[in-house]
Amino acid sequence: RVIGAAPSLASRAYARSRLLSTLAVLEQRDGQLSHGSLSAFTAAKKLGGTVHGFIAGNSVASAAQEAAKVEGVEKIISVDNLSYEKGLPENYAPLLIENIKKGGYTHVIAGHTAFGKSVLPRVAAMLDSQQISDITAIENEATFVRPIYAGNAIATVESSDTIKFITIRGTAFAAETPGSGSAAIEAGVDPKSEPISEWVSEDLAKSDRPDLATAGKVVSGGRGLKSKEEFDKVMLPLADALGAAVGASRAAVDSGYADNSLQVGQTGKVVAPQLYMAVGISGAIQHLAGMKDSKVIAAINKDADAPIFQVADVGLVGDLFEKVPELTEKVKGS
Ligand code: FAD
Repeated sequence: RVIGAAPSLASRAYARSRLLSTLAVLEQRDGQLSHGSLSAFTAAKKLGGTVHGFIAGNSVASAAQEAAKVEGVEKIISVDNLSYEKGLPENYAPLLIENIKKGGYTHVIAGHTAFGKSVLPRVAAMLDSQQISDITAIENEATFVRPIYAGNAIATVESSDTIKFITIRGTAFAAETPGSGSAAIEAGVDPKSEPISEWVSEDLAKSDRPDLATAGKVVSGGRGLKSKEEFDKVMLPLADALGAAVGASRAAVDSGYADNSLQVGQTGKVVAPQLYMAVGISGAIQHLAGMKDSKVIAAINKDADAPIFQVADVGLVGDLFEKVPELTEKVKGS
């Protein structure tokens, strides 16, 4: 019998995980839970330890109830107050800080979205911690993997901060789906601080097509489309036939062929659908940074040497104005 043996790796990991507690910051719009933001739970569960969710806004009760159904979550902390509806960082940060202090969390996780990118670094700075952005993997509770230089290098970073503030790349952590979980729902602390910024208005591009960031299929058009009229005439029927979201290269957006919100790439959205179809897109590294993790990449380009073909699983060399309508008809007929 060995007396006083060092604890096994498994028991040490268990003891450590008991000390971990993560707050996953969820997003909502008009009281509707953003399902993409449930990927914060996926990352939190990978860390191990206790997982709580946080949601704030106007009439968020049903969103909190939906989030409470995610398995493995102990508690949803919700704050109902119109002031937090738009997630303005200046107003949201003091709220989050109070709730982090109350819960004594070791980790705070949010999506690497416009909301997460604006709120979390502010909260981290106010609590004297360093934000860890856009992670794609968790090695252990202090070590995280994140792409840098538009995905051309992968950094493994270790943090010694007491509270780790992390934004996660949604495509690397498949969002949890509400199931048969039954987390407790608790009203959070509301400091009701004087709002220091105000939401004036927003101009949202409305579309009945699937959401670009979470769609299973994406068809993207580039400068090769030549004009907005041609972009709409060629790309939209293809998107509709496939039930796909529409994306665009920055050149297409800058030339006014497509809305800003459709840009895919380093300075646009990062997507990883089952199928990504690049039409008239050359495949610049800044574009690849936003789509190269797609499961199947198909490209149509008239230049056989276009760099997009180096990452494509399926390529078609030809004139898009001929090939895309032909493909659309075939998809419709299938
Ligand atoms: P082009 O490079 O001009 O390619 C057009 C392609 O269409 C060509 O390959 C051509 O052969 C093909 N083509 C033309 N006519 C036809 C036809 N009739 N049939 C078939 N094919 C045809 N870009 C992004 O996309 N997203 C980003 O987020 C992004 N961020 C950037 C950030 C920085 C800091 C910088 C410096 C650049 C960024 N860019 C980004 C721009 C990027 O470098 C490229 O300029 C851009 O991606 C090119 O877009 P494109 O492929 O549509 O156009």
